[in-house]
Amino acid sequence: MIWVKYFLVLRRGRWAANRFRKRSYSFIPGDEVKSLRSVPSPDVSKIRNIGIMAHIDAGKTTTTERMLYYSGYTRALGDVDDGDTVTDFMAQERERGITIQSAAVTFDWKGHRINLIDTPGHVDFTLEVERALRVLDGAVAVFDASAGVEAQTMTVWRQADKHHVPCICFLNKMDKPAANLSFCLESIRQKLKANPVLLQIPIGRGRNFSGVVDLLTNQKLSWKPTDDGRFFDTKTLSESRQEEAELFREVQLARTALIEQVADLDDEFAEILLSDYSDNFDVVPYVKLREAVRRITLTRKGVPVLCGSSLRNKGVQPLLDAITAFLPAPDERAHDLMRWYKDDLCALAFKVLHDKQRGPLVFLRIYSGTLKAQTALYNINRNSTERMSRLLVPFADQHVEIQSMTAGNIALTVGLKKTVTGDTIVSSKASAANAARLATSEGRKGVALSGVEVPDPVFFCTIEPPTMAKQDDLEKALNNLQREDPSLKIRIDPDSGQTILCGMGELHIEIIHDRIRREYGIQTHLGPLQVAYRETILHHASATDTLDRSVGEKRHIATVELNVRHVPGSCLVEFAEEVAANLSEDMKEAVANGVDSSYLQGPLLGYPLQDVSTQIQRVNMEPGTSLAMVSACVSRCMLKALKLAGGQILEPVMSMEVTVEEEHLGVVLGDLAQRRGTVRDIQSRHDNKLLLASVPLAETRGYSTTLRTLTSGKATFSLELDTYEAMNTQEQNILVKRMAGLL
Ligand code: GDP
Ligand code: MG
Repeated sequence: MIWVKYFLVLRRGRWAANRFRKRSYSFIPGDEVKSLRSVPSPDVSKIRNIGIMAHIDAGKTTTTERMLYYSGYTRALGDVDDGDTVTDFMAQERERGITIQSAAVTFDWKGHRINLIDTPGHVDFTLEVERALRVLDGAVAVFDASAGVEAQTMTVWRQADKHHVPCICFLNKMDKPAANLSFCLESIRQKLKANPVLLQIPIGRGRNFSGVVDLLTNQKLSWKPTDDGRFFDTKTLSESRQEEAELFREVQLARTALIEQVADLDDEFAEILLSDYSDNFDVVPYVKLREAVRRITLTRKGVPVLCGSSLRNKGVQPLLDAITAFLPAPDERAHDLMRWYKDDLCALAFKVLHDKQRGPLVFLRIYSGTLKAQTALYNINRNSTERMSRLLVPFADQHVEIQSMTAGNIALTVGLKKTVTGDTIVSSKASAANAARLATSEGRKGVALSGVEVPDPVFFCTIEPPTMAKQDDLEKALNNLQREDPSLKIRIDPDSGQTILCGMGELHIEIIHDRIRREYGIQTHLGPLQVAYRETILHHASATDTLDRSVGEKRHIATVELNVRHVPGSCLVEFAEEVAANLSEDMKEAVANGVDSSYLQGPLLGYPLQDVSTQIQRVNMEPGTSLAMVSACVSRCMLKALKLAGGQILEPVMSMEVTVEEEHLGVVLGDLAQRRGTVRDIQSRHDNKLLLASVPLAETRGYSTTLRTLTSGKATFSLELDTYEAMNTQEQNILVKRMAGLL
């Protein structure tokens, strides 16, 4: 019966196949049907939820494509350079050749179900990476073997550390003449503070790179120079073959080093080695070695390192083997939720996409229980019950429908209209309450998974529809985009009534603009890009204010006395002891509201304040005065005090890394000086220079274009928000005048 059902599903899914065909992909009939039959219930120990992370251009997308090809899910090799890969399916990604949205891809490899998320490499989209990482059980870090560890990898690696995600390193681009194994290992040690465990030795250098020797099995895996790499030769390395003698010795040394390193990191292996193989370490069975490498990977004492060249079709199958061999299954990653929910459903929404035909599609990671199609689900964060209509297995931009899905899997759901990225989904309110009781009995409060930390946007601009008639459509589009991407913020300017788009960077805002045009057919106009400054105060100041206002018959009179001072950290409000003792809770809240609302708009330019502490010294009011009037009085008094305290603008400062050839270093440095940049270090990397600098965000506008022009496109850079710094008086005066329209 089940078989028949899946044939039907396949036929129903013809729309998807058609879409695929247009792009010259198609299902491989025989094999494909076979693998789809196992869709509903892979054994949890055979599931791997894996992310691929890397610096932009290291080869994540190319590697993903090869994985899909070798596992039989695509017929043709996609090529990022031609813009026809499966995972980069948004139009902008194809044009720009980068990955923006992490698309989940499911495929099978040697009896394992791999759910793979291709994460974006650009720093504007760090949130996407973070979101993906917390629902994954393991990660593959892809490196350009000629560049070693690059900036974005360090950021993502830190995030993986935070979520205790075990990793494997894949040194890609071994075919490049500048590829350098020992340099990469050293940079993994130095920059990632990780312990690389080298499992392969590359055969041949640069263009002659032809395969690898697996140090666990002593097998030589070689690929033909030109074909699609599906088939490769496997043979045991032999000392007697003369042409292999040198390689044999190199492998022997590396294998001995590996065995010693593994014994150092894993006590169980060390014991086996000493008790059973003490006279000859070399004959220790490879299975024991592999098990020990797995334990080391899972405890994050070390990271397996593999080599290959995805573009040249070499080394990808052993990478897939390593994913199944070393990275954890979902049930090996203990999560509190599994204990609290036991067999009840608990899932986390980690991605929302909007599909024109099907409405919002929500990606869920199931932590416990079973998710069934056509059921009602309870969303803890929204406190609402929603009906899920269909359940799909995500295969890049084409999906296969199924009826139910068990814990450990990644599912794609249709019909959840209210769910926002980061929400926790369970079967019912009662089930949530039950889990909450269990959690509380363990002294733990939040049963909802902690939300993704959303960083504050740094750039903003106004956005206008072409005509007022399109305003509603624009609002709808922005609403959808916000549900997909919590790092995008929309607000309405209280003075002008204009809609303001706030984002994580120039590229982020550009892409949102582009998506509104392409996906929603609205040609919007963006105002100039502005920096999200902050404000603080310089001195201590006190103020008193009395508000006396009649509304209708009623007279409201309140008097407030307070002082403000500079205290590093987030903004605070404190009550003097006497005041605290005499005020009701309602009153305290009204006062705090008044203070908070003035923290949102600084006195200089109206940017949010930070590093300010307010002490309430006195609050008096006539009977009958409303709480709203008290808040208003406090706000007015705050403004007085803040003005007296002397305003200071804080500007976001980015840490920047530029990789540039030596001949262009001079012009790049000259340009940075004009951008108020401070150079922190200049390091050498092969023939290139690596420039580390701090640059105010305001000065980074248009940097990618300038850098391209200055270096004929040969340099790359990355940016990351570092800190907020006080502007000097001269710069601040210019800014204040410019904002007032005086310049
Ligand atoms: P992503 O930004 O990490 O997704 O990287 P892509 O997969 O888009 O690849 C970036 C560029 O590197 C493209 O031009 C690829 O053709 C190229 N590339 C990918 N893998 C290799 C490789 O193994 N060797 C070489 N030489 N180039 C590669
Ligand atoms: Mg990519």
